[in-house]
Amino acid sequence: MARTYQEAVRSGTLAAGKLHRQIDLRALQEARPGAVDVFAVIADLGVPLMVRPLTGLLGAFLNLPSPGILVTTERPLSIQRFTAAHELGHCLLRHQPSLDDEDQILRRAPQAQDAGPGYQETEADAFAVAFLMPKWLIMAHCARQAWRLAELKRPDVVYQLSLRLGASYEAMTRTLERYELIDATTRTSLLATRPRALKAALLEDFTPPSYRGDVWLLTEKDEGGRIDGSRNDLFVIRLPELGSAGYLWDFDTLAASGFSLVRDTRLDLAADGVGGPNLRQVLAAPLEDAHGMLHIEQRRPWLGEAAIAAFVVPFDLTGPEGSGLSRAERRQRLAAA
Ligand SMILES: [Zn+2]
Repeated sequence: MARTYQEAVRSGTLAAGKLHRQIDLRALQEARPGAVDVFAVIADLGVPLMVRPLTGLLGAFLNLPSPGILVTTERPLSIQRFTAAHELGHCLLRHQPSLDDEDQILRRAPQAQDAGPGYQETEADAFAVAFLMPKWLIMAHCARQAWRLAELKRPDVVYQLSLRLGASYEAMTRTLERYELIDATTRTSLLATRPRALKAALLEDFTPPSYRGDVWLLTEKDEGGRIDGSRNDLFVIRLPELGSAGYLWDFDTLAASGFSLVRDTRLDLAADGVGGPNLRQVLAAPLEDAHGMLHIEQRRPWLGEAAIAAFVVPFDLTGPEGSGLSRAERRQRLAAA
């Protein structure tokens, strides 16, 4: 049990690193960069977890008669994931039972106020941050997207980074500050921008039924990665196209992948508007319970030749977690049956 706040942060962080090594997270992330699948890890560890419509709580850790985790249905996937990681922290660090509301999980209370014995809330929080958003994973996503450190001051960049780590915009911002990748002034200015404004900017003239879902900006840098999102997310797919040479991205396959095409635009890159490559940009919405492989190819449609480029990304847009077992545990049980 930790005796000081600093000791709790250190031991929570160490426990997350130990679990990363146990599940070989680096190899998993090198193969398919994406978010850390905390629900699959909990299922693999055999820790019982139920998703329930909880009132006033985001989650709970119970240990009688045996350890178990509860997560609410009433929040977006990013908050469900952070809650699950926090409760897993309680479980692995052998904490006392904990009923966790927003103040506990989202750490809105001042640092010194830790309601749990032995700084256990601080320890579980440090575990959750380090488990879901280790610094090396943030840096790996930045390198992949060619985002430089200075660009972490930009709300649109931090928002897109948060989606790839499966974190909320606020949690992502606070974590960047914790790792000293941004300073306190930048954190304040980032948090002054609401995600809704960032979503609206990407959607341009399109108005969604609600702004609860996220808006992903996918580019060729996302090729080979992985998308874990929710059913009301929207996708702006922006890819370079050799239109002047007759090559076009074939977005007809979007429907076969489980998406509907909302908007299709071409943006000229060349200053004179002729002869150069252009950007093709579409807005796509997932159909019901979409999961599988997004696969689009650039080819000359009237020639039977091979594609010159492909954009392939596995995706799961069945979030958030619904009532009952987690999606990961249901998949495991199906596979074992
Ligand atoms: Zn807690």
